[in-house]
Formats: sequence, C-alpha cells, structure tokens
Amino acid sequence: MSLLSIQNVSKQYTATNAPALNGVSFDSERGKIVALIGVSGSGKTTLLRIVAGLETPDAGIVVLDGKTLNSSSVFVSPEQRNCGLVFQDYALFPNKTVYQNIVFGKGATDDSVRLKQLIDMAGIGGLEQRFPHEISGGQQQRVALVRALATRPKLLLLDEPLSHLDSDLKDSVRTELLNLFRKTDTTTLFVSHDIEDAMAIADRMVVMRDGQTEQVGQPSEIYKRPINSHVARLFGKTNFIPASLIRGSHHVFEDKKNEGMIVPVRPHQWRIIDGAADDSNTFKGKVKSMTNQGAYLEVVLETEHLNLTLHLDAKTSIQVGTLLTVGCDLTE
Ligand code: ADP
Ligand code: MG
Repeated sequence: MSLLSIQNVSKQYTATNAPALNGVSFDSERGKIVALIGVSGSGKTTLLRIVAGLETPDAGIVVLDGKTLNSSSVFVSPEQRNCGLVFQDYALFPNKTVYQNIVFGKGATDDSVRLKQLIDMAGIGGLEQRFPHEISGGQQQRVALVRALATRPKLLLLDEPLSHLDSDLKDSVRTELLNLFRKTDTTTLFVSHDIEDAMAIADRMVVMRDGQTEQVGQPSEIYKRPINSHVARLFGKTNFIPASLIRGSHHVFEDKKNEGMIVPVRPHQWRIIDGAADDSNTFKGKVKSMTNQGAYLEVVLETEHLNLTLHLDAKTSIQVGTLLTVGCDLTE
C-alpha cells in the first residue's frame, strides 16, 4: 500500500483565471523519494502546501499512511499531519544556536542518541553551539533538514531547498541529502525546478504542467521515454525526428505541432559514420555551426530535412562546412 496517496486534487486561488491544480493524482511508496518537477507556476508549491495542510484544496483526497488528511469532509490540521517541512529559506531562528534550532521543532524527539546520530549523518557534528550566521549556507540547509527529521515525520516535504546554493556546494549537499534520506529511510516529496537534482535524488518523478501531472515514473524512464516534446525538453536539448525518417521500433510520441509521430534523439546519441552507410539510421549534412563545450563539441548539422544538434567528442576535427554522415544509437 502507498504511504502517500494524492487523488484528484484541485485548487483555484480566488481572483485567478486558471486553477493552480487541476485534478492531480499520484502516490508514493514508503521510503521513496519523489521529485515534483515543472516550470515556475506549474503548481508544485501549491501541492506541497496542500499536503502540509497549509492550504485547503477545492476538491480531492490526500491520504498519508492510511489516514485521510483531506477529503470533502475531512481536514487534518498541519500540526497533526506528521509532515516535516523544509522551504527554500530554511527558516532557522537567527538568535538560537544550531542545537536549539534542531530541538525547537514541535514534537522533536527527546531521544538524544537519535539526535546525535542525525547530526552526525548530516555532517554538522561540532557545530551545535554556533549560530546560523556562523555556518555556511550548505550547513544551514542540513540544520533545517535535521530539524525536520528530528520530529520523525512520516513524510518530508522539501520546496526547492537547493535553489539558493551555488552549484559547487550543491553537488556535495545533494550527495549528502541523498545519503541522509536513504539512511533514515524517510519518505520524501521534493520540489525542484532543476532536473539534475531530481535525476540525482529521486526514485520517482512527477512532471507537472499548468496544474496537471504530465508524466509520472522513474526518472530514467521519463528521460528515455518522454511522452511529449515538453517533457523531453526538460532534460535539455533534444532532436525531434519525424518517425518516418527513423527505421526500427523506437520510443515515439505524437506531436501536435508537427502532426505526426516523433522520435526524441538526444545530442549525445549521434555518432559519425565513416565510409559506406551501415545499419544504423543515417543522416547526411553540413556542419552549420559548432561550439566547444569543454567535454564535448556541440554541432549543428544542416541536413536535407532538419537541423540536428549533436554532441561529439571534443577531439573531433571538423569545421564549419564539413560534410558529415551521422547515425543515431537509440539503445543507450
Ligand atoms: P510553482 O511552485 O510550480 O512555481 P505555485 O504553486 O507557486 O507554482 O503556483 C501555481 C499557480 O498558482 C501560479 O499561477 C501562481 O501564480 C498561482 N498562485 C500561487 N500562490 C497563489 C496565491 N497565494 N494567490 C493567488 N495565486 C497564487
Ligand atoms: Mg514554487
């Protein structure tokens, strides 16, 4: 049975023309990390606030661990929901020490062994007596997390907690986050607009758009099999090749704009083909532009039907105007 079940949740704020959420449904098993992904305004924060009990849905059902939190006749108050919350700004008390911040949470465990464990797992041991302004942004983040985990929440709700960190710091915090969730076996609903964060952390991904779920699944599945061009683009540049130009059976989706079936091909899935054509799907073209991205060359190849974006080995010796034959390997 799912730990968290969200069924047909809708919400429209007063004095707005469109619903913030329009019939959202998905669920999560115990111990899993679910990433909510979508552009700004797609309804991620609204959904998180509804699950936390900070916002009331117009319709729909929320069930946590067998207990109904929201329905047409039920509303459980935020304090009774057993959800831990971490928002973007961490909301630490500036005049309390790290330790005081951690134990301040309502219902924080008085089990000092567990607290010590959490503090050590989060890598903030030794900082207990400092004030928030005396530790780094990444450490503040982990204090906020430990504070949320100290209440032993059934569900941890995180709203873009990594968005204020610079990318260097983000990498290490991301890894530590992941380890912390895994070690504490905490079920987590994680809001992010950063697809890389979601790919790195999530067991399951919910792609939202205009208040609706567009695609739900394992991150690698969504990456390999996006259901439309919008989802495909979330993962970066993608070539949308008409299925009529690609042989074999590959993942396709219907594209309204191009009125036909489309095969999404990632830039790194192209290979230069030497000599005679081989079995793979080949396209001939002329290099229109190229930029060195360090790890790879990004090349725009002008072919008969369309321009292709390719990521080729940085050592490839080509120039603007070079004629190339490329094939795509869709097995990876
Ligand atoms: P996200 O977190 O994905 O950026 P939000 O849930 O914050 O999206 O917003 C979804 C939609 O609801 C947006 O159109 C936003 O402008 C609107 N919205 C959010 N909060 C409020 C509010 N308090 N009052 C009116 N409209 C709101
Ligand atoms: Mg938001």
